[in-house]
Amino acid sequence: VKKLLDNTIIAGTVIMLILAIYNSGIDLKISIPKFNLNSVLSNARRHITYRQREAPKEVEDSSETFKSTTVSFVHNPTDTLALVNKSYRFNEGYVPGDLVRVNIPFAGSVIWEERLMRREAAEALEKLFESASKQNIQLRGISGYRSYETQRHLYYLTVRNMGVEYAENYVAYPGHSEHQSGLAMDLVGPVSYSQLSTSDFGNTKEGKWVEKNAHSFGFIIRYPEGKEKITGYNYEPWHLRYVGIEAAREIKEKGLVLEEYIEW
Ligand SMILES: [Zn+2]
Repeated sequence: VKKLLDNTIIAGTVIMLILAIYNSGIDLKISIPKFNLNSVLSNARRHITYRQREAPKEVEDSSETFKSTTVSFVHNPTDTLALVNKSYRFNEGYVPGDLVRVNIPFAGSVIWEERLMRREAAEALEKLFESASKQNIQLRGISGYRSYETQRHLYYLTVRNMGVEYAENYVAYPGHSEHQSGLAMDLVGPVSYSQLSTSDFGNTKEGKWVEKNAHSFGFIIRYPEGKEKITGYNYEPWHLRYVGIEAAREIKEKGLVLEEYIEW
C-alpha cells in the first residue's frame, strides 16, 4: 500500500509540474495532447457570425431563441454535397459513421477528435498532402471533425467567459459548424497559428497552392472572397470542404460556392 501511495504521489507531482510549466506559457517545443482552449476557441470563433440574430438574455434561452428562427435540419447529412450553414444545421445526434484518423501532419495542440474526417475525405486529403509535399509545400491540419458536444462546449464556454453577445458573434452555434460533417479541414502553413486567423493564409505560397490545386482532390475553398453574402462567412482560405472531384471541378471552373452549386 505504501508503494502504491508513493507512486501516486510521484505521478501527481509529475502531472502538477507539467501543468505548471504548461500554464506558465514557456514554449518547450513539445506537444501536450490536451484541450487547448485558446487554439480551439480562436479557431471556432472564425466560423459563424450571428450578428443578425438577437442575442438571447440567458444562456439557457439561446437554444429556444435559435429554434424560433428559420433554421432547418440538414436533410442529407451523409451526402458529400450536404449543405450546412446558418440556415441548415445538423441534428444533435449526428455523428458520421465512417470517421477515421487522417494520416497527415497536424499542428500542435490539436485535440484528438479534430484529427478525424470521413474516410473518403480523409483519403483525398492524404493525397492532397502527398502532392503538396512533393512540391515542397508544407501544410498541416488544424481542425477536422468537430462533434456537436464540442461545439456546444465551446459555445457555452464562450458565453460564460465573454458574454452572450460575443459568443453569438464569434462562435458557431451548436449544430451549425460544417466541421460536424466530417468533410471539412482547416489547414495551416508552417508559420504559425496566427497566420490562420487572418486571410493572410491565402497570400502565402501554401495558401496559393491550395487555392490552385484543392479541386483536383475533391476539395473546395468553402468560403471564398466576394461570396460572403451568400455563404454568410468571411473569406476563409484555410477552410477546405470535401465535395468530390466532379463537384469540386465544376464549382472551381464556374466560380460558384456550394449554395449556388446545389441550386444550379
Ligand atoms: Zn473551418
